[in-house]
Amino acid sequence: MIKPTLRNYKRPVYITDYPTGPNCESGHLVDKNSGWRTFRPTINLDLCKGCLRCYLLCPDGVIFKSNSKVDVDYDFCKGCGICAHECKFKAITMTKEDKE
Ligand code: SF4
Ligand code: SF4
Repeated sequence: MIKPTLRNYKRPVYITDYPTGPNCESGHLVDKNSGWRTFRPTINLDLCKGCLRCYLLCPDGVIFKSNSKVDVDYDFCKGCGICAHECKFKAITMTKEDKE
């Protein structure tokens, strides 16, 4: 029987310490969840440096590369705000959804 082995966790220090891809491939979700989102991330492309930190850390893999910067697939973004919290350049703001 093969048992999983535990490795020591090494806290990432530099962006190069992170994986080269997002948490999961974009497109793996099938049910659109934008209906229950309360806040949506808005990316200010003038502030965005294209560092891909948000792309790497979005838990749902709904941020994608676009013209050397990034964009969000709003059909599947759940509005958790992790991307806005983690952007070092304050390029992402969370704004309240207009639920008319
Ligand atoms: S973390 Fe911020 S600066 Fe980096 S790619 Fe995302 S929005 Fe742009
Ligand atoms: S708000 Fe959450 S789900 Fe939406 S793009 Fe940002 S990190 Fe991903």
